[in-house]
Amino acid sequence: MDEELTRVRPAVDMGPARRDDRRRANGLLAGEKHLLEMVAVGHPLSVVLPALCRLVEDANSEYLCSILLVDPRAAVFEHGAAPSLPPAYYASKAGRPIHPESGPCGAAASTKRQMIVSDLAAETRWDASGWRAFTMSHGLRSCWSTPILSRAQEVLGTFAIYRREPGAPTRADQDLIAQLTHLASIAIDRARSDAALRRSESFLAEAQSLSRTGSFSWRVATDEITLSDEVYRILQLDPKVPVTLATIDERVHPEGIASLAELAVRARTDGGAFECEHRMLMPDGSVRYVHVVAHGTRDQHGQLEYIGAIQDVTQRRLSGEALGRARAELAHIARVTSLGALTASIAHEVNQPLSGIITNASTGLRMLASDPPNVDGACETLRRTIRDGHRAAQVIARLRALFTRREPASERVDLNEATREVATLMLSELQRHRVVLRMQLAEDLPVVFGDRVQLQQVVLNLLLNASEAMSEIDDRPRELVVRSRLDGPDVRVDVQDAGTGISAENVSQLFDAFYTTKSGGMGIGLSVSRSIIESHHGRLVAMANDGPGATFSFSIPHRGNAVNRAYAYAAAQTASMTGAA
Ligand code: ADP
Repeated sequence: MDEELTRVRPAVDMGPARRDDRRRANGLLAGEKHLLEMVAVGHPLSVVLPALCRLVEDANSEYLCSILLVDPRAAVFEHGAAPSLPPAYYASKAGRPIHPESGPCGAAASTKRQMIVSDLAAETRWDASGWRAFTMSHGLRSCWSTPILSRAQEVLGTFAIYRREPGAPTRADQDLIAQLTHLASIAIDRARSDAALRRSESFLAEAQSLSRTGSFSWRVATDEITLSDEVYRILQLDPKVPVTLATIDERVHPEGIASLAELAVRARTDGGAFECEHRMLMPDGSVRYVHVVAHGTRDQHGQLEYIGAIQDVTQRRLSGEALGRARAELAHIARVTSLGALTASIAHEVNQPLSGIITNASTGLRMLASDPPNVDGACETLRRTIRDGHRAAQVIARLRALFTRREPASERVDLNEATREVATLMLSELQRHRVVLRMQLAEDLPVVFGDRVQLQQVVLNLLLNASEAMSEIDDRPRELVVRSRLDGPDVRVDVQDAGTGISAENVSQLFDAFYTTKSGGMGIGLSVSRSIIESHHGRLVAMANDGPGATFSFSIPHRGNAVNRAYAYAAAQTASMTGAA
């Protein structure tokens, strides 16, 4: 724009002009300067264009000026300015298609060439359109129409001078026209780029408000912070009050201040990109969750500036939490359902130490009643009684851990040990169904990070399903193989049965909630299992065996692996954000 402004040619050639010519030229120069100032401060075209016409009309009282704008999308003329032309005459032009046959302005705009009509009485070029008769009916006799071109030589409009007398433009008139059309082109260009900028800003604002995402910049050296309107809205900040880091800190939930400060220190020193989620506390006590992404850039002086986006994810977060609660409910129901299937097994597990206790206690009594009393023997039986008591208590504790409701945890889990525990619990159930269990657990398996009880629930579901799938198989051994192994970055557990198997058609449905082929089934075991495994960043899949039966496998990234570390971090973050232990 500045370059454009300086490109305006100097005012009309003064030459050895007469005094009033000089005065007029000076007036014109001052007028042009004033017009450029109007353009520079952003006055609208509705003000600048009439002023431009008047400048010419003041320079020559015989001139009646008109500016027509070109609407590039519709190829029609639009109102520009014509402060002195008969209104009815000018009004007839707006909205007209731009056509070389319509009149000198249409021809000038279409051909990008100046059209001079020195005497309408002798002009026949546009007679077909009726232009001459109509123009003469308003008392006009000459018309000089010049296209207004942009820097890129696009037609922005036409600048026309009409007179009530015949006449052709002089050299000075042409200079004046050239100068004023150039000025008009600067004004129109500026107005159009302003409008385009305003439009794109309003699109951006609209998009920010729709996506509840605002943008910000942070100049690290000066701590200067710039926020978009949407950030002011999200953080409920007053746009009139300058924002500092302290203003932002005031909105951060007290529990998040330390981690934000740590992040700021890191950002200041390494200049790397960051992404985080924060809990914010609004002045009315409500809580908002925001997701922040930013990357650092350096200006030509090497100064670090962060540019980023802040998204209000409160709704998503709350729905996520609600979903999590619903999932946990469902998982609990699934666990309690499997409890029914395990009754016999559980009874057996508890009964074993109980009968041990009774046997030991009776033996002890007998030893004490003998003559002489066998005190050493009685002490030994009492010790065994205590051991069996502990065993029973452990079984109950394991059951309680597995079947009571509790918050999801993030802990080190030895999948071999967790699998063994479940298998032990199920042993008599499997025996009752004549299932032969083979455990092939790899040695030295790395631990995974996650919720032990949830993962045990998955193993339990898979073992129960496998056992049920074999309940009607009588022509082959009911063999159940549980295998664990290291599979690249994952720890993998396979549960392979020799049951009814799965078909290509139903394999895609197995994991759908409430899909079941069993008369007493609920169809939630596998869908809950899959969501548990996925929340551990793992995968649960089903495959038909080469021979009879099916294999269900889940794999979870192990602790040494980056994904798992990220999971551990996210779990810890979640725990700190929700206040859970
Ligand atoms: P439910 O056991 O209540 O039916 P699940 O979600 O655990 O619910 O299982 C859904 C369905 O998947 C079962 O009804 C069964 O058709 C199929 N399925 C699960 N495990 C096996 C398996 N080991 N062999 C064959 N089909 C299976």
